[in-house]
Amino acid sequence: MKRLIVRMLLIVIFIVLFSPSVKLAHAVTTESYNPEPLTSVNIGVILFYFQNSTNPEFPEEIIQEIMFDGHNSVKTYYEEVSFQQLSLTGTVFNWVEIPFDMPNSGNVEDCNKLEWAEAAKQTLQNMEVNLDDYTNFYYISSDTVSGCGHGVSFADAGYSNGFSNVSQYIFTHELGHAFGLNHANFLDCGSKSIDVYSQCSESEYSDPYGVMGTEYTHLNGINKMILGWIPYSSVQEITTTGSYVLSSVSSSETGAPQILKVPKPDTREYYILEYHHSVGYDASLRQELLDGTSIRIWNNSKGRSTRLLDPILASGHSSTSRPVIYDDEIFIDEINQIQIKQVSHTVDGTVLEIQASPNTEEPYTISGNYVDENNNPISLSGLGVTIRRLDGSGYTVEIDNAPTWSINDLEIGFYSITANTIPNYEITSSSCSGCDFFLNYSGGQTTMETFAPTSSALNVSFKYTQDMTYNVADINEDGVVDITDYSFLVIDFFQSQLNNPRSDINQDGVVDISDYSLLVLNFFKT
Ligand SMILES: [Zn+2]
Repeated sequence: MKRLIVRMLLIVIFIVLFSPSVKLAHAVTTESYNPEPLTSVNIGVILFYFQNSTNPEFPEEIIQEIMFDGHNSVKTYYEEVSFQQLSLTGTVFNWVEIPFDMPNSGNVEDCNKLEWAEAAKQTLQNMEVNLDDYTNFYYISSDTVSGCGHGVSFADAGYSNGFSNVSQYIFTHELGHAFGLNHANFLDCGSKSIDVYSQCSESEYSDPYGVMGTEYTHLNGINKMILGWIPYSSVQEITTTGSYVLSSVSSSETGAPQILKVPKPDTREYYILEYHHSVGYDASLRQELLDGTSIRIWNNSKGRSTRLLDPILASGHSSTSRPVIYDDEIFIDEINQIQIKQVSHTVDGTVLEIQASPNTEEPYTISGNYVDENNNPISLSGLGVTIRRLDGSGYTVEIDNAPTWSINDLEIGFYSITANTIPNYEITSSSCSGCDFFLNYSGGQTTMETFAPTSSALNVSFKYTQDMTYNVADINEDGVVDITDYSFLVIDFFQSQLNNPRSDINQDGVVDISDYSLLVLNFFKT
């Protein structure tokens, strides 16, 4: 009886207070965004030994020296290659025993490094050690466990497998991964410098510049761009044939760009041109790697390994022995009709003549939609995506309140796409036709994907599934549907901008009488 009265009361208030207004509109906005450079890391170095093992055979001081204190430490390396933009600090903790036996099978699947790392961390925390201030961790086991390789990284941490894998190179390499870098590879196209990719093979780690390749020298320019140490303002895109000045990536910028970026239309990627000179950690570069410009391929993806070319084939076939162009030498890409000639060089820079490709890149059309668990199209209030180009150019498109959408002028590049959170719904999967990479799927209420388009038209679809675990009409999520929820609904009734997106209980894009009926139906329910 009481409930009936409440219902009648609600209906009366309703009719008096509200009249319909406009439906939600579809909005597209662009805004600038700059990836923040990596300027500060604090590394917790966690040393552990197995419960069935003997005490560690090497002292913490050695690790402290290699990681932080020595004149060739990981700290001095990263601070130099970041042009002193990165401050690297950290702590080496005392050895802890973990409640695991060391496996002796030699099998990769018995290398439970994640569990060991977690246990070591937990042991420290049980000893009241506060680990909250560390941005990254580095784990080192006392024993070299057969089957565990040399080093690995997982999430934002690195790992060295025993004392035999304690070195500046392994530490900096695994931390490079922990900071978000992938390997610096070499692209071997046999008797050509560049060919269609089916004729080429990628040789992992074989770039002789930098720790993501084989050497304890400066990272290549792409990796420095990814970490924000070479800002977008120091990168010049070349779309017109002409003469260009390039300054070295081995020391901080001198005014001229540190990276020249030449569009490679056949694969919708870029040639990245850079120059290294003999200074600091680059003083140990082989002589053959100095005085010339190196050329890599990049698709703007943070996750994609970089690919160094042999631009001249001085030895008759593709080789890493001198993968540079010296003065008067010309790299030729016949497919795209691109030519790159080094005209002259100084100690810390070079002058290049670049013939840009006459082929222009057709822009992409990207469209998207949303489906329910049965793959039927859905239209919910607040559906939308944010698309960002991942090269620091600042290109961002936000699409709001659009059950389907399309963008017709997406430029060559690599992007992330983030689908909006919808109350009471979970994104359970996503798909893309025409995408090269579709990674990072995390699920949950919101998700981000990264993609590189491979065809001129692509379609992205996100699947939303209703979360039935709580009452949809409980707008303020306090556990019961009551007068407070009603007042939320009142505020948003027929409004184009919702104060609370959960007011649109049935998520049909408008707060109206059908939402009100759902609220009534659930009144005083939990
Ligand atoms: Zn690696």
